[in-house]
Amino acid sequence: AVILGIESSCDETSASICVNGEIKSNIIATQAIHAKYGGVVPELASRAHQQNIIPTVDQAIQQAKITKNDVDAVAFTRGPGLLGSLLVGTSFAKSFALARNIPLIDINHMQAHILAHFIDDPKPQFPFLCLTVSGGHTQIVLVKDYFDMELIGQTLDDAAGEAFDKTAKILNLPYPGGPLIDKYAQLGNPDAFKLPEPQIADLNFSFSGLKTAILYLVQGEIKKNPNFLEENMHDICASVQQRIVSILLNKLKKAAKQTGVKDIAIAGGVSANSGLRNSLLAMGEKYKWNVFIPKFEYCTDNAAMIAIAGYHKFLKSDFIGQDVTPLARIPM
Ligand code: ATP
Ligand code: MG
Ligand code: FE
Repeated sequence: AVILGIESSCDETSASICVNGEIKSNIIATQAIHAKYGGVVPELASRAHQQNIIPTVDQAIQQAKITKNDVDAVAFTRGPGLLGSLLVGTSFAKSFALARNIPLIDINHMQAHILAHFIDDPKPQFPFLCLTVSGGHTQIVLVKDYFDMELIGQTLDDAAGEAFDKTAKILNLPYPGGPLIDKYAQLGNPDAFKLPEPQIADLNFSFSGLKTAILYLVQGEIKKNPNFLEENMHDICASVQQRIVSILLNKLKKAAKQTGVKDIAIAGGVSANSGLRNSLLAMGEKYKWNVFIPKFEYCTDNAAMIAIAGYHKFLKSDFIGQDVTPLARIPM
């Protein structure tokens, strides 16, 4: 089966072709326009999706060396995400399916981040745990089957990606700040600044206290030394990153202990973070886990994860009607 996957939930327009479970193309048009506003502007994102969607799909089809006529089904992100952005991908997918008289498959974006682990080998075994860390979500998910997932922990305030991006803003770094903090952290001392670890019960997370602690630290130090940021950028980034990673992994460790599950995965944009990847590998060795870390191209938003999820729904003939509408929020 040939599946066309469409992703348009935030600020990436992406299209991918999956042939019998194998990804043949994964084209991602990133919207540079948002950088100058310091965050994603929903109105501009919808407009950019509208401009990018056709060329992105054309390129995905070309690179996969197929034609439009070969596509057997269209899978698209139904949500969660920005409604105006989702509408572009949803409308495109519906039109394409209608014109070619082929089935339509709706995909949950957060499930797709996790199902990206079924693109390449080695693949995790059910049930496995996935720490999904992205721009809008921080979740620990018990994955029992492709579309049978239980949310067992989540953030009570900011998402991990938001914690990176908001910290970056305090440090006067451009949006999105996550990748830059990662880069500078590699040159700094992670123990240079002491930052608090929140005491939250269960498997839930909180990052707002950390953000406030960084803000107060920076404001206080700048009063004493106006060049504080420039002189300490690497150490601050390393300290912040180490704390975010420890908050995430301590809860993941707790979840593994509680469930007894030994196949442990990470997913979402923040799973590209080198500190998180390295610490997870070390923790996995210590606790004898089978650790699954996505390829960089499948961490942040991409349509390959939508196409592979679509393929697994296609195998079950799990289709959706033309009256489907996107949803800004969808439960797991
Ligand atoms: P969601 O999936 O929750 O709807 P999203 O799709 O916007 O949100 P992703 O594209 O999965 O999120 O991830 C984007 C986030 O990942 C941003 O917050 C970005 O800063 C962060 N990120 C990307 N690379 C890194 C990195 N190397 N280190 C830390 N954070 C990173
Ligand atoms: Mg994005
Ligand atoms: Fe995402």
